[in-house]
Amino acid sequence: MRIDVDQEKCTGCGNCLEICPKGYKIWKKNSEGKAEIIDLFFCHGCTLCASKCSADAIKIVRDTYEKKEK
Ligand code: SF4
Ligand code: SF4
Repeated sequence: MRIDVDQEKCTGCGNCLEICPKGYKIWKKNSEGKAEIIDLFFCHGCTLCASKCSADAIKIVRDTYEKKEK
C-alpha cells in the first residue's frame, strides 16, 4: 500500500500527524508546512489519518491483490 497526500489540497493543519499512532515516525511537515510521508514501515493501515483529514487530501491506496476466501 501507499499513502498519497495531495499537496494542493493539504492545508497543513497537522491532524494526520497528531492522530497517527506512529506520528513523526511516518509523517513530517515539509518546507511548505504541508504533510508528507517519510516512511511507511511503521504504518499498519488504520486509515485514521485519512479519516481526520478535513481537506480530503489523503488517499490510502491498497495496491496489493488479496484473494478472498470463499
Ligand atoms: S494509516 Fe494509520 S498508521 Fe498509517 S499513516 Fe495513517 S494514521 Fe498512521
Ligand atoms: S490532515 Fe490533511 S490537510 Fe491536515 S496536514 Fe494532514 S494531509 Fe494536510
